[in-house]
Amino acid sequence: MKPAAFTYHRARTVAGAVGLLTEFGDDAKVVAGGQSLVAMMNFRLARPEHLVDISRIPGLDTITRDGPALRLGALVTHHTVETADLGADFRVLSEAMRWVGHLPIRTRGTVAGSLAHADATAEWCLLAVLLDAEVVAEGPAGRRAIPAAEFFHGVFTTALEPDEVIVEVVFPRPARRAALTEFAERRGDFAIVAAAVDLDAYRVVLGGVAPVPLRVPAAEAVIAGGGSPSEAGEAATAAIEVRDEPGVSARYRRALTRTLVVRACEEAAARV
Ligand SMILES: Cc1cc2nc3c(=O)[nH]c(=O)nc-3n(C[C@H](O)[C@H](O)[C@H](O)COP(=O)(O)OP(=O)(O)OC[C@H]3O[C@@H](n4cnc5c(N)ncnc54)[C@H](O)[C@@H]3O)c2cc1C
Repeated sequence: MKPAAFTYHRARTVAGAVGLLTEFGDDAKVVAGGQSLVAMMNFRLARPEHLVDISRIPGLDTITRDGPALRLGALVTHHTVETADLGADFRVLSEAMRWVGHLPIRTRGTVAGSLAHADATAEWCLLAVLLDAEVVAEGPAGRRAIPAAEFFHGVFTTALEPDEVIVEVVFPRPARRAALTEFAERRGDFAIVAAAVDLDAYRVVLGGVAPVPLRVPAAEAVIAGGGSPSEAGEAATAAIEVRDEPGVSARYRRALTRTLVVRACEEAAARV
């Protein structure tokens, strides 16, 4: 299928994009890499009357080290992160990118686009919650930083206002002993279950078991108490509430959760 008719606008500045979004309100959508939105438009799951293209706005595609923090511009692509030398502090970000779709998708898709799209199994959504990222958005009233813990409201739903543009994502602290792993039926598909662990911050985050990336305090307590990967996996499995779904039983999802939490803990522990 092809998308419903729309008017295309190319924004030259963030302020210009915000102006267009303010003018057209709910009828407008930002487009960045187009790897999620255009597919949704083709299936007529999204029918924006106005597309505001931010992909050529200068200055939004930089990766900057700022003391302990890492700042990723909104237009930084998955592939840029995959191939960047982020050092041991943020290697988990680069390594996680291999799980995102296929190379052409990673080459065009952006960090901010993933977060704004808010698929609960998307790697960037898990990583943002795992590492306490802040999503910096600009709207008519100026800029605000939204903690990842408050950003995801539900399936494809976030704290972003319709007239706001994400300008950067800030990862405030290094995560040397962190790992993300997942399972999908075919390489490049979204995961059925994904697990991310930061052993130093005592964090366990799951994707594919709830409408948003899910922190699992019971498994985090196991890690904080020096428990084994296997115990963390058991705790995570016991904590989730999942139901049978077509093609994926609750039992299977629980088994995947256990295995992936163990694997993520072991991978993270191997990074000294
Ligand atoms: C076959 C296929 C497989 C995929 N597999 C995976 C996968 O395994 N894991 C994964 O994470 N993703 C996957 N994706 C999605 C891909 O990663 C997208 O690139 C990403 O989700 C969205 O980034 P984008 O820049 O393309 O955003 P777009 O498609 O341009 O936009 C997506 C949404 O974000 C909004 N948006 C974009 N940028 C901004 C911004 N700066 N401020 C405010 N709102 C913004 C748009 O309005 C839209 O609602 C897959 C896609 C395809 C087609």
